[in-house]
Amino acid sequence: MASDLQNSAFHDNHKARETLEAIRWPDGPYCPHCGNSDQDKIAKGEGEVARPGLYYCAECNGQFTVTVGTVMERSKISLHKWLQAFHLMCSSKKGVSAHQLHRTLDLSYEAAWFMAHRIREAMRAGGLAPLGGGGGIVEADETYYGNVDRPKLRANKQGRVRANRKGNKRPIVALVERGGNVRTFHVPVASKEHVAKVVRENIARESRLHTDESNLYPAVGTTFDAHKTVKHSIEEYVRYEKGEAIHTNSAEGYFGIFKRGMKGVYQHCKEKHLHRYLAEYDFRYNHRIALGFNDRERAALAVKNAAGKRLTYRGTGEARF
Ligand SMILES: [Zn+2]
Repeated sequence: MASDLQNSAFHDNHKARETLEAIRWPDGPYCPHCGNSDQDKIAKGEGEVARPGLYYCAECNGQFTVTVGTVMERSKISLHKWLQAFHLMCSSKKGVSAHQLHRTLDLSYEAAWFMAHRIREAMRAGGLAPLGGGGGIVEADETYYGNVDRPKLRANKQGRVRANRKGNKRPIVALVERGGNVRTFHVPVASKEHVAKVVRENIARESRLHTDESNLYPAVGTTFDAHKTVKHSIEEYVRYEKGEAIHTNSAEGYFGIFKRGMKGVYQHCKEKHLHRYLAEYDFRYNHRIALGFNDRERAALAVKNAAGKRLTYRGTGEARF
């Protein structure tokens, strides 16, 4: 990372643009308006009037730059600062606070905050194939982080309305492939219905589900090749059955990183943003060194993922930063 930070693309806007172009367009620019990738029909905006980085599409007569159609579109922040922020957020295990970005990149706090959320959006995965499959093990576990913004109430079978069982905590469900990827969800309530939906929709049926003895999982567990449990209540944290290690230690390890990071770096996050912080931790976990990714590759992937993502906040004009 030290040598990476001396990278001239982090200090020079033109070099940063070229780096972003090389990451986003390995086969040459394509038009984000009409999808044209015929290099004969794309002109580079050079010369006295045109600015470098501006391209013209002869197919639709549109203009574009490397940031069009990405979370960086219309931002006033220099590209070398964007690139550096991508690297910082992708290489630090626990995340980087808006305060640190504000100081390191010499941006206003508001601009840094805006930027961090856009990078989280770039890290967010979408439309993924189910986890597990082929008899692989997937752990499922839930935890609670922070308080909900508005206490949720629900009626029990007798119609009595009360706060949910864990009070006003925000429930998070994590699904982790043993030795592989994680996928986390902020669910409204840690109920059988909500948890089962997440489990069903994100784990392949041909998987072996590992959970603790929580009553959230037995019903949905029957829809998989196997459902094995450890009894945390009797301090059983791993059990061996015909050579299969039954535990939820990967999920708990993930929650540990998430909670230490949130506590140490971000301190407080509004509930409506929680899913985005989870996306950030998921992204780093799924591109960790153990899976063969270095800091540079991880950042390049986040930059690639910045395409096709847009994020607007009410009251935060997109062009403000
Ligand atoms: Zn076009």
